[in-house]
Amino acid sequence: MAGCTAITRGGGRCKGTAIDSSGLCHAHHPDRAEQRRRAASKGGIRGGRGRPLADLADLKRDVRKVIDDVLADNISQGPGAIALQGYNILLRAAKVEMDIREQQELIERLEALEAAQERQKGGGRRWGA
Ligand SMILES: [Zn+2]
Repeated sequence: MAGCTAITRGGGRCKGTAIDSSGLCHAHHPDRAEQRRRAASKGGIRGGRGRPLADLADLKRDVRKVIDDVLADNISQGPGAIALQGYNILLRAAKVEMDIREQQELIERLEALEAAQERQKGGGRRWGA
């Protein structure tokens, strides 16, 4: 993928990757300004775990826009319906991703507990049955 063509405040070339034919990265793309502002005010600070929620917020906003466009006759029902089907799949994918993350987190916590239990056994003490 092409690099971002924007110039940073420091005067250097942005090291981001262009997200579309505009040649601008996520951080410099004008379409993403609103999204960026919201991300900075809410989930932006959180790392990995906050990301699926941010994805969902983006999805909801996009879906709402399609619905608004269909209702306002900006796009016809056919393409609107197909777009919404696509969003439905994205939503399900986001749900699956969240489930997987949750499971991974649970597994990690379980492993940590098991390791702690092993250490306690080694010290001659046992957890109650
Ligand atoms: Zn950039």
